[in-house]
Amino acid sequence: MTSLYDVTRDELAELLVGEPKYRLDQVWQGLYQRLELPHEMSSIPKALRTRIDHELPLALKQELRRVSDGGDTVKYLWRLHDDNPIETVLMLYSDRVTVCVSSQAGCAMACGFCATGQAGFNRQLTVGEIVEQVVRASREATAIGRRLANVVFMGMGEPLANEGAVWTAVERMHGDLGLSARHLTISTIGIVPGIRQLTTRPLPVNLAVSLHAANDELRNTLVPINKRYPLASLMSACAEYLDIKGRRISFEWALIHGVNDRDSDADELAALCRRFSLAAHVNLIPLNPTPGWPTIGSSATRVRQFRDLLEIRGVNATVRRNRGSDIDAACGQLAAGQPVAVLRKSQVTTRDTSGSTH
Ligand code: SAH
Repeated sequence: MTSLYDVTRDELAELLVGEPKYRLDQVWQGLYQRLELPHEMSSIPKALRTRIDHELPLALKQELRRVSDGGDTVKYLWRLHDDNPIETVLMLYSDRVTVCVSSQAGCAMACGFCATGQAGFNRQLTVGEIVEQVVRASREATAIGRRLANVVFMGMGEPLANEGAVWTAVERMHGDLGLSARHLTISTIGIVPGIRQLTTRPLPVNLAVSLHAANDELRNTLVPINKRYPLASLMSACAEYLDIKGRRISFEWALIHGVNDRDSDADELAALCRRFSLAAHVNLIPLNPTPGWPTIGSSATRVRQFRDLLEIRGVNATVRRNRGSDIDAACGQLAAGQPVAVLRKSQVTTRDTSGSTH
C-alpha cells in the first residue's frame, strides 16, 4: 500500500496529471513545509483534496497517545495498515524538540534487555511510515508553538537493518522537511556493513552505537549480533566513519547492575575510546526495566561514579536524562502493546489529533 508520505514528488506529479502545473508545488509544500494533510489544503479544490485523501491515505492510525513528564513526553502507539503496531516518542525540552522514531515493526536483534528485542521482528517499515512519524510529531509540536528539529532513530527496530528505507527517509527529512542533517541521529546495535554503507552516504548525520560492553565475551551475551560483528570490526567501522565524515560518534551504554557497571568495565570502555580521542562521547543511562529481563539498572549513585571513572580516564561521558519510563516510553521499553504498567486515566487519550481520514 502506498501511503501519503511514501510517494515521491514524481509519483505525486503522475497523480496530478491534468491539473495545472503549480498544483504539484502546492501539494508538496503543503505536505512538507506546512505539514498540512490533503483535506486541510485550503488552496486546492475540494474534489482534488478528497481524491488525494482517498488515493494516498495516511500510514499511521493512532491507537493510543500517552503523556508523561507533565506533558513533555508523548508516546504514540500507531497501527499500520496490516495491523502491525509501532511506537514514536516526542520529547519537549526547554531548548529543543526531539522525536524518537521506529525503523522496523519489531526487531530481529534479540538483545535480551530490550523490550522490542524480546518481542521479535515483524517487518521493515517503509519510507512513508518512517517520515510520517516525524510529520505527525512535528504537527503536535507546531500546535503548541514549538519547532521539532531533532530526529533520533532510537525507537523500535534496527535502522541499519533497514538502511535503504531509513536513508531515503533521512533525505526526505533533510531535503523536504528542512531538518539539518546534523540534527538527525542514527543509532545502531553495530551492523558493520550498515555503518560502512552509511559512511558512503553524503549527509553528515550523527552515528550512535549501542555498545553496552567493551569486551566480546560480555557483549556476546548482551548483544547477540556481536558474534557476527565483533568489537574489533565494529570499532574499525566506527573509526572509518569518523575519518571520512568527521562527525563525533556516541557510544550508548545502558548500565546494568553488577553486569557492565564495574570499575573494570569503565577501564575497558576507556581503553576502547582512546583511539577516538575526543571524538567519542559516551552516553550513560541506567537500564530501564522490561518484562523479560531479570537484572536491574545501576543506582543513580553508581551511574555518576561510572561517569566519573570515565572522565578521570579522559573520556567524555554524559548521563542521559531518562524520559517517559512511567509510560514505557523510555529507551528499550517500546514493545507496542506488550503489557504495560497500570496507568492513571488522565494520562491516556485515544483522541486522534491528526484529523486522519482513517
Ligand atoms: N537498534 C538500535 C536502535 C534502538 S535505540 C540500537 O540498538 O541502537 C534504543 C537504545 O536503547 C539503544 O541504545 C539500546 O541499546 C537502548 N536500550 C535497549 N533496551 C534498554 C533498556 N532496557 N534500558 C535502557 N536502554 C535500553
